[in-house]
Amino acid sequence: MEAPLTAATSPDLKNDDLIVIAGAGGFIAGSLVRYFHDQGFTNIRAIDKKPLPEWYQRVPGVESLSLDLSEYANCVRVCEGAVEVYNLAADMGGMGFIERNRVECLRTILINTHMVEAAYRAGARRFFFSSSACAYNITIQQDPNVRALKESDAYPAMAERGYGWEKLMSEIFCQEYWEERGLETHIARFHNVYGPHGTWDGGREKAPAAICRKVIAAKDSGSTEILIWGDGTQTRSFMFIEDCVKGIDMIMHCKELIATPINLGSSELISVDHLVSLAEEIGGVKLTRKYQLDAPRGVAGRNSDNTFIQSVLGWEPSTPFRDGLAKTYAWIEQQYMDRKAGKRTVA
Ligand code: NAD
Repeated sequence: MEAPLTAATSPDLKNDDLIVIAGAGGFIAGSLVRYFHDQGFTNIRAIDKKPLPEWYQRVPGVESLSLDLSEYANCVRVCEGAVEVYNLAADMGGMGFIERNRVECLRTILINTHMVEAAYRAGARRFFFSSSACAYNITIQQDPNVRALKESDAYPAMAERGYGWEKLMSEIFCQEYWEERGLETHIARFHNVYGPHGTWDGGREKAPAAICRKVIAAKDSGSTEILIWGDGTQTRSFMFIEDCVKGIDMIMHCKELIATPINLGSSELISVDHLVSLAEEIGGVKLTRKYQLDAPRGVAGRNSDNTFIQSVLGWEPSTPFRDGLAKTYAWIEQQYMDRKAGKRTVA
């Protein structure tokens, strides 16, 4: 990560208060651990079910535990003494993964169910849940020229089957823990996040990383073609990781956002074809596009309506996609070269 962004953290959080971050061997939670560490927090407990050598980032001085959080006893153990709990652990991936692994996605509900209960019993002050734009009603996302999704569009509910329903149900858990039991919960609906230290190969990667990798591989092998899932017209917005971690901090520490799901995403709409053009431009190549029309493609279009976040926080994710993609491309290129040289890499 670059130099730390301005701290948004609540003044009631002391530097040595215990911050628990679940899913920390993965992309976003790994960056969140680094973010809080760089803000000067000295008591961070990071957990992931992956063995420690497979974590994408390991931050020195952070207590790092390899535990399965779908087991309640492990959740109790990790929440002990916690002041704040951030749950970002999930069995997830890009469209290719979530369309083919609905059971895995649904079973993720065990993690949040146990984590929110354990946080409540431990007397934690705040609990954060990472929801997703997949929680939105899919019937209003059939057109690439989408109207951006606002928070109320989740209901009447028709979420993405599997992953989306798990997110929606876990949101409800968080809301009821506040309503009935007084645990302060915060819920952000992330729209596609990308950046360095994310999955870039292996089937769970998302479009920006996949396209960067394909351009890098084509250059490396001398191929002139690129295979694209769908017809290239699908549109999405993509949020750079630095905006994401700052947004999590701001949302968690905003009293007006208790138990209130809020979009955390960029509102810059990008088509897959445009994404390919940008990656080609960064890589300095031009490739012949082959469209794989039977590949998973998800909804036709999706964007984040940022009216609510702007009105509450006076802020929204704003890293231009071209800038974030250039940083991501450079990182993936390094990973690609490292892997070729037989070194350990993230994915
Ligand atoms: P990621 O896959 O890189 O990280 C998730 C981590 O959770 C993984 O390291 C995984 O090993 C861990 N995990 C899974 N099951 C576990 C278990 N039983 N116990 C402990 N750890 C477990 O994913 P990410 O991109 O960092 O996503 C983080 C969160 O943000 C997830 O909740 C995801 O659904 C949500 N989200 C991400 C995006 C995105 O674009 N990346 C978009 C919307 C929502």
